[in-house]
Amino acid sequence: EKKKLYLGMDFGTSGARYALIDHQGNIYAQGKRDYPLYMKEEKMDWIQSWKDTLFLLLDDVPVSLRPIVASIAIDGTSATTIIMDSKSEEPLSRPFLYNESCPDALPLVKSIAPTNHTVCSGSSTLCKLVAWWNSYDSSKESVVLLHQADWLLWLLHGKLGVSDYNNALKVGYDPEMDSYPSWLLSQPYSHLLPSVQEPGTKIGCMKEDIRTLFGYPKDCLICTGTTDSIAAFIAARATQPGKAVTSLGSTLAIKLLSTRRVEDARFGVYSHRLGDKWLVGGASNTGGAVLRQLFTDEQLEKLSEQINPLEASPLDYYPLQAVGERFPVADPKMEPRLHPRPANDVEYLHGILESIARIEAKGYNLLKDLGANPVEEVITSGGGSKNEKWTKIRERVLGLPVCRANQTEAAYGAALLAMKGACGNTTFD
Ligand code: ADP
Repeated sequence: EKKKLYLGMDFGTSGARYALIDHQGNIYAQGKRDYPLYMKEEKMDWIQSWKDTLFLLLDDVPVSLRPIVASIAIDGTSATTIIMDSKSEEPLSRPFLYNESCPDALPLVKSIAPTNHTVCSGSSTLCKLVAWWNSYDSSKESVVLLHQADWLLWLLHGKLGVSDYNNALKVGYDPEMDSYPSWLLSQPYSHLLPSVQEPGTKIGCMKEDIRTLFGYPKDCLICTGTTDSIAAFIAARATQPGKAVTSLGSTLAIKLLSTRRVEDARFGVYSHRLGDKWLVGGASNTGGAVLRQLFTDEQLEKLSEQINPLEASPLDYYPLQAVGERFPVADPKMEPRLHPRPANDVEYLHGILESIARIEAKGYNLLKDLGANPVEEVITSGGGSKNEKWTKIRERVLGLPVCRANQTEAAYGAALLAMKGACGNTTFD
């Protein structure tokens, strides 16, 4: 059989990347583009910037490999929302970005959604939709809502109004019922909602004009994507319940694959569907940002070398950059605790790393108490994952095997979704 490759693209917060892989997961090519800065009416023109970036990435894929690209999938930032006219195929406003908040729409959303539903946050897709609906005066008949990934994929396949159940969660889609709930369908704007597929489902072939322009094959499939953080989880290839990924970046985020769905708004814990399993997540405000305030990355390396990870540190800190914690303790008034500071910086760092590890362990315990599968193995991504002493400390504190992820790029996860769409094979199982 002829060799086939699968193309994933990640449209993240700071730029876009692509990864081209084969069926075994080997990387054939990868690359990155910054978003070009275009201004329109004194504001950033994201639509033009994302569109150009998409075609730049298609053009970055080596010419010789393009003819064997079997499929493409794209992930985007969660709750980045584009509302467009399906006749003119033009956006009807500038896009709402993932971190933008529409607090004015919140009371209305809270009045229609169940208590503590994911949409009850000012930055949810539904709040963005309601904010737009209430401010737009012209005809709203032929309008469709797309998430960033849906819109980019649409540029490639041309079928308007298709999304995936990960991106659609924050507009109110119910991934367990596999439908929009009745409280949402009864709203006057329900005709804007896109149809929803499983991530990594083929939608159609690449548009003729694009594929001939760049030299992609005739049957190149375009598949539904997911959000950027789920794509990063998929990249780590934790496919069994009980497997988890801890991200040790500026903050500490944990994600655990579970057979049961777990939600608790008090702690900001919610679940995304992945095939027949659930991806349960929680995010603490502790993490590497505090380390960076105290030490340079070089100091971190030098000091870490001198730590004995088999010895428990007696220092009990709660490293935070600012007041307030959400998970695994919900306390908006929690004060950072980094004292007493020992004279020896090795001891100090040991205490901080150990304390963050205890918070991580507490996080996994909380998920278990809320009903998720107990964690069995922890894969690590982010800047802190390269610290081998910290890994050893975490193994001792968690009482579990901890390893570093081979792949952490969301684009790699998107490529696995493209493979799933083309081969029907099992990214999630
Ligand atoms: P972001 O969440 O900002 O993308 P990264 O995944 O790039 O973060 O990780 C950066 C963080 O990793 C910084 O906060 C830094 O303090 C931390 N870090 C860097 N090197 C080390 C190290 N050797 N040990 C522990 N933490 C480290």
